Amino acid sequence: MLIFRKVFFAVLLALLCTQSVAAAKQSALKVHRHVSEQTWSVNSYLIESEKGLLLIDGQMLNSDAKLLAAQIKSLKKPLLAAIITHAHSDHFAGFSELRRQLGEFPLYSIASVVQGIEPFHNQFLTSYKPMYGDDLESTWITPQVLESGKVLNIGDIEFLPVDLGAGEAEAQLVLYFPAQRWLFTGDATMHRSFYYVGEGHSAEALLAFERLKKEFPEAQTLYAGHGDPARLNIVDQHIAQVRLLRETVSAAMSMPGNLDDKGQLTREALTKVVDDILAAYPYFYDYGLDARMLMSWNVLGLVKELGSTLAMTSE
Ligand SMILES: [Zn+2]
Repeated sequence: MLIFRKVFFAVLLALLCTQSVAAAKQSALKVHRHVSEQTWSVNSYLIESEKGLLLIDGQMLNSDAKLLAAQIKSLKKPLLAAIITHAHSDHFAGFSELRRQLGEFPLYSIASVVQGIEPFHNQFLTSYKPMYGDDLESTWITPQVLESGKVLNIGDIEFLPVDLGAGEAEAQLVLYFPAQRWLFTGDATMHRSFYYVGEGHSAEALLAFERLKKEFPEAQTLYAGHGDPARLNIVDQHIAQVRLLRETVSAAMSMPGNLDDKGQLTREALTKVVDDILAAYPYFYDYGLDARMLMSWNVLGLVKELGSTLAMTSE
């Protein structure tokens, strides 16, 4: 009996050891998060493997890109490649400075994101160049196109890039690391913050949220472009938030006297909608922007989006 027990425990121990070796092999990657100091709490992520580093998103201002470059240098491993999750300048404008600091490295994104970079940055410069001057780069680097839905190996780092369509931005790339169950969402999720739908893609954002739940049910940690990491159930909160936005704006638009002759909400109606939504989420972060301004952009975007949907259905 004693021998049987000894054999049993020896087998159990051997099994546990093999499992932990397998787990160690699978979790050999490490995530480093770099948060911008100057602007909007933008996250860049460094995935560290034995062979090198993969960078996800490259900051907005040169001063922040310099700090990110210093972190990359401190890890003393080659930068194997970098990826842009979406064509918003707070995630890609810093790449010129990163190339100056670190030399050449491959830069990738999906075709729809690559196409959006030039028009978005030109528009962005009009608004923000006067504010940031030389700290905001006027030029940009055009990434090479990678294919959505096909597992990619960069050095010893393996992941699945997936085109999520429009939502917070006109095109969104998410990256799934199956062995680690990590999902890098760009701004497709923005944790414990006000979600941005100012570009008029709230209906598509709701579809994108459902896709995240359906296509990545195993995801354990979501790493977003802004905010702390979260679990997959944060997506349900996002769905509730965007639905509330749509319903509040839609209700305001249908109230007599709230729209002017250009189809815009009157100033009073806009203020009321913004107040109502901000009151629903008193603890949300605004990533260093003014919450009221951010929510006004959302409401203006929604008025346009919902207005054109109404016009289409009444035709
Ligand atoms: Zn962003």
